[in-house]
Amino acid sequence: MSQNVEQSNATVAVVGAGVVGLCCALEAQRKGYQVTLFDRDAAGCGASFGNAGYLATELLEPLSNPKVLRSALSLWLSPKAPLFLPLGYFHRIVPWLLRFVGAAGAATLRRSRKGLMQLNREAIAAWQRCLEDIGATEQIVKSGYLLVWESADKVDEARQHQAWLREHSIETELVQGERLAQLEPELAKRVNHALLFPDACRVSEPYQLCTRLFSAFIERGGVFIQQSVTQVRPSGQQVTVFTEAQDHRYDAAMICAGVWSKTLLRDMGINVPLEAERGYHLTIPEAGFMLRHTIGSAERRFVMGPLDSGLRVVGMTELGGLKLPPFKQRFDVLRYHSRQLLPGLNTPELEVSEWMGHRPTLPDSLPVIDRHPQHPQILFAFGHQHLGLTQAAVTAELTLKLLQNEASMIDMELFKVNRF
Ligand SMILES: Cc1cc2nc3c(=O)[nH]c(=O)nc-3n(C[C@H](O)[C@H](O)[C@H](O)COP(=O)(O)OP(=O)(O)OC[C@H]3O[C@@H](n4cnc5c(N)ncnc54)[C@H](O)[C@@H]3O)c2cc1C
Repeated sequence: MSQNVEQSNATVAVVGAGVVGLCCALEAQRKGYQVTLFDRDAAGCGASFGNAGYLATELLEPLSNPKVLRSALSLWLSPKAPLFLPLGYFHRIVPWLLRFVGAAGAATLRRSRKGLMQLNREAIAAWQRCLEDIGATEQIVKSGYLLVWESADKVDEARQHQAWLREHSIETELVQGERLAQLEPELAKRVNHALLFPDACRVSEPYQLCTRLFSAFIERGGVFIQQSVTQVRPSGQQVTVFTEAQDHRYDAAMICAGVWSKTLLRDMGINVPLEAERGYHLTIPEAGFMLRHTIGSAERRFVMGPLDSGLRVVGMTELGGLKLPPFKQRFDVLRYHSRQLLPGLNTPELEVSEWMGHRPTLPDSLPVIDRHPQHPQILFAFGHQHLGLTQAAVTAELTLKLLQNEASMIDMELFKVNRF
């Protein structure tokens, strides 16, 4: 049992055992609550299962920004593009797209940048605190990140990005030629230059991290109920969590159900413009080589990284909702791009597993970390888009501060549930 746990009889329910819910459950235990975690699946089987495992603290630009909007049409129309809007879902996504475009306006952009900066600045330290407490610091690896460009005429673009990052206290090194080849020998010669982020971290394996968090939670006396939660409803000063089988009462509840949080909130009368941003991965257990860094392509817009489960290739932003099955073409696009950058993958007999998951995304790229406006015993922690792994531990600390009415150094107004 952790030393900073003070025993209490207050009870908390956490709905959703993804990386965000798991971190919240552990943090609530640390603060002395009796915690029950609900998930319809085993822990860590939602978006948290198959992400790239990269702690992307340098991603300070919201998804909706003037540069992305200017290139959106070409990104969408190219067959190998990272953006895809399935026609069958197009009419349903239009209202969200309009909000997304609106979020690129100057005022929202400023707020979003500020929010991302505040969360990302604290993200690694929060992970270290969480993992030290459960004796699992080996789950974070400082392996560095390479952001690569193939076009020689984009060296200035890299320099500009480097200058912008420096303004935000993120140091990088522009690498080319022999130095780049030594850093990452498997990269294709077509890669002309890269920015090296020497201090960047990843996790050793995202699903393994979730199972590690989950076992610590159970060892500390946490209760796991594997049932679908149908409703969360205030009951006087308490809260009732309804499942298909029974209902349970707690002193407080936290909704950490990723993209599915939207339905639970709607049943409480709160509408949030939360959308599923579908992303795809390939995992190659035996590629015959291992990358040394996580690698992102600035031009092709996908990421590859070394994980304990193998070489993982991730990417695609597909606004296709929750019901459509994965599209085979998206996996083929990832295969194509990864083979262009890593010639060692051009071996037809390589075993590859394929996966698609739902990033929980709000138009302004910020999560909701807040309390119910009328029922403060209900808290919300969801909507972390591409950064849920990065921001899970800091989100848990902030959510518990809210529950305990403690002040925080972060401007929590940015993450309000009713900001839309
Ligand atoms: C391809 C891809 C790559 C990514 N790469 C990165 C990366 O490198 N770095 C990074 O920081 N982020 C990355 N992300 C984003 C990150 O994975 C997500 O933001 C994060 O996993 C969200 O975590 P979560 O706990 O909020 O949601 P989830 O992991 O989706 O968990 C939600 C859980 O709630 C459960 N649930 C939902 N509704 C109910 C209900 N009614 N009753 C019971 N249980 C319920 C679900 O079963 C699920 O287990 C990536 C995402 C994708 C798809």
